[in-house]
Amino acid sequence: MKRTPLEAWIAGKLPGGAGTLTEQLERYQLRKLRETVAYARDNSPFYRHHLSPLGDNPVTDLRDFASIPFTTASDLRREGTRMLCTSQDEIERVVTLQSSGTTGPPKRLFFTGEDLETTIDFFAHGMATLVEPGRTVIIFLPGTVRDSVGDLLARALDRTNVKPVIWGPVHDAAAARTEILKHRNPCLVGIPTQILALARGDLAGSIPRGWVESVLLSTDYVSGAIEEELKRLWGCRVLTHYGMTETGLGGGVECEAGEGYHLRESDLYTEIIDPVTGVPLPDGEEGEVVFTTLTRRGMPLVRYRTGDRARLVTVPCPCGTPLKRLGRVQGRIETEVLLKEGRRLRMSALDEALFPIPGLLNFAAEVVSREGSDHLHLNLHTVAGEEETVARGILPALITADTTGAFFRDKLLVLGNITFSPAEWSGTGVAKRQILDRRGLK
Ligand SMILES: [Zn+2]
Repeated sequence: MKRTPLEAWIAGKLPGGAGTLTEQLERYQLRKLRETVAYARDNSPFYRHHLSPLGDNPVTDLRDFASIPFTTASDLRREGTRMLCTSQDEIERVVTLQSSGTTGPPKRLFFTGEDLETTIDFFAHGMATLVEPGRTVIIFLPGTVRDSVGDLLARALDRTNVKPVIWGPVHDAAAARTEILKHRNPCLVGIPTQILALARGDLAGSIPRGWVESVLLSTDYVSGAIEEELKRLWGCRVLTHYGMTETGLGGGVECEAGEGYHLRESDLYTEIIDPVTGVPLPDGEEGEVVFTTLTRRGMPLVRYRTGDRARLVTVPCPCGTPLKRLGRVQGRIETEVLLKEGRRLRMSALDEALFPIPGLLNFAAEVVSREGSDHLHLNLHTVAGEEETVARGILPALITADTTGAFFRDKLLVLGNITFSPAEWSGTGVAKRQILDRRGLK
């Protein structure tokens, strides 16, 4: 098995010195954390105030660092340009994120050209896991806007002699399949439910097994069930990427082992904290992912709470690298629906239970209150003509799945209405999928 190409890439950024790669990386990260804190305080009105409790004490070890206050999504919404560390003239790209269901100001993230360059560099090296020079990558992510994720990925591939084709999110599955067939053994990069719909909805079998060489799924959460189905239908390798706008669009990517993300540790320092107490958790324990940017110039983020639930894997990666691994992200903490007895329903649990049902392409879920019980309502998007068959499979799947069975057997949740979305609906696109909690509504 090939080692993650990120190891050599990260090692090349370290100044060297004594000790193992892990020791060198820790020294580098501590120095960069110290520099980032000083840079943020010196250059941004927000951080000058936010980090003032530190006084003049420098961060001397990672324990000190754990006492620094967090930054959050609401800081981004409220503070806006007060978090900037450069003049606006130096900003090359602003990403505006309007979170679903809220009316407050959007999150805005600012990147200098130098910041974007570090992401392109990460993409160029990370993609070497999946694709060799001379091959084609079809990008089913937004890419028409300069410096959008698809555009940055395409520029990264150009550098490594891989041909990028920017297609964008899939709105017309037949046209997307025709494009896939134009390129011999392509690698596809896209949103999990959209790539699943390309494979499962291909009833005529227009894409033969073995045609697609590899798939990279990129989103906040990738269901293992979707990954397995793509491997089964197409016989291809499937790896996943973890990242968000705040991490600089790229965050981490799996190696050939496919067992957790190797992170861009020369640009990001990652912690896992207890989401309630804020205390850092030992490696291996599941909690909230928090990261600090180490090289960001425009808008550095210090101990930024992502709201994502995951763990750092303690077992060494089968690929042989000493780099850390972040386990599969289990979805967003704030979108978990609290049921009776303090039990929590996650979208990831529904995904693992339902995506194994043949013919299901996507679904939307909401929890409502009816006569004192919590009911789960589902809206299904299925392969045409398969609506009734899929609907009949839902309850047995929910009851037998490891992830959801106990909720239904213990009567914490009752399956309510099942409805169907129009056949042409192509999912939620790039928006993150979540369970809507409508129990407060009449
Ligand atoms: Zn690995």
